[in-house]
Amino acid sequence: MVVRTVKWLAPVLAAAVAAGGFAVARATSRADAGPAAKGRPTARNVIFINGDGMAAAHREAARLFYAGFDGRLTMDSLPVSGQLTTSPRDPATAVTDSAAGASAWATGQRTYNGAISVDVAGRPLPTLGAQAKAAGKATGLVTTAQVTDASPAAFFANSTDRAAQDDIARQYLDVSRPDVILGGGEDWWLPAGRPGAYPDQPAADPEEGSRGTKGDLIARARANGYQYVSTAAQLTAARRGKLLGLFANEEMFQQHPEGQGDVYDPPVSLATMTRTALATLSTERNGFLLFVEEEAVDEFAHNNNGRRTLQAMGELEKAVTVARDYAAAHPDTLLIVTGDHETGGLAVEDTATTDESGDGVSAEDGPFPIRGSTLRFNLDWTTESHTGQSVPITASGPLADRFTGQHPNTYVHEVLAPVLTR
Ligand SMILES: [Zn+2]
Repeated sequence: MVVRTVKWLAPVLAAAVAAGGFAVARATSRADAGPAAKGRPTARNVIFINGDGMAAAHREAARLFYAGFDGRLTMDSLPVSGQLTTSPRDPATAVTDSAAGASAWATGQRTYNGAISVDVAGRPLPTLGAQAKAAGKATGLVTTAQVTDASPAAFFANSTDRAAQDDIARQYLDVSRPDVILGGGEDWWLPAGRPGAYPDQPAADPEEGSRGTKGDLIARARANGYQYVSTAAQLTAARRGKLLGLFANEEMFQQHPEGQGDVYDPPVSLATMTRTALATLSTERNGFLLFVEEEAVDEFAHNNNGRRTLQAMGELEKAVTVARDYAAAHPDTLLIVTGDHETGGLAVEDTATTDESGDGVSAEDGPFPIRGSTLRFNLDWTTESHTGQSVPITASGPLADRFTGQHPNTYVHEVLAPVLTR
């Protein structure tokens, strides 16, 4: 009964605040804290972590591998859990891509695959990243993908086409202005013929090379007050303040099947990037929004590469731990860990091979050891694409209890918008 009343009241009070009343604003803060959180502060900071392509099987495989039968991942130990459905509004497919998935989070609207926070008619929608900035919060994004890849882009840009990554970079500088930008994707920040810190046509992937059409955006970022770094040492030495770090031409890893050039050895770890971003953003008096993403879960699941998928899950877990520790020391922080969709149709299976219903292009990986046990498990893939499975969402801090139950992915926006746009 109490739960129902407060949930019903919160949007009403938020609307009243928009109309502008100080006494009402104080009441809203109490409502935001939620019925299970009396005495806790309201959500001032939001850390949103995307395990791209991560659903229940990826988390369970990582739990067995890193923590064992009786163990628990940090991402699974957050006190609140629920599930999100992920279906897009695409004329041609029932299964989402990362662009439509992140657009649902960032705008509250389902849209077509490939859309970066535009509606089904291609009209731009307000994004949480831009709105948080307009509301006086600091913002940041950290990813092992290109910093302009679909998921972070949906929080900080609008485009009818996720492939327009140079224009998405331009929008970061001209429109949404995140304070911290750390990840890969240098190729989109420089024009062809300007290799930058990461050489064009490297042996690991000869197709990589600068290809931006918006001029030298790194120079422009510097002119706009960003420190630009491209190595771990430079990142360590960076002063507080606006920060652009680009640590790869494209993704910060090479996605391939096992033994075919697959590499996950980023020059800077996701955990380190997350720690640096938090150190910078936490100096902001009005709070912050930080988007964190481990892209390699998705990409190695696309490649049905169980070993690297587990490795990426381990790196994501370390970043979650950094965020969890921050949230523990800053109780006004809402921490969310989820995925944008499932990739691979992954199943955790026994090592017996008599139960197979057909392998085809999607083979089985393993066996992998279970920590603290002599038993092992296999990873079985049913597709090299995304699936429509629901994804777990876990959360801690103010408003976390809102995520209990099953919701559409647009619900993330419903919870976060009142926090980030006031
Ligand atoms: Zn994705």
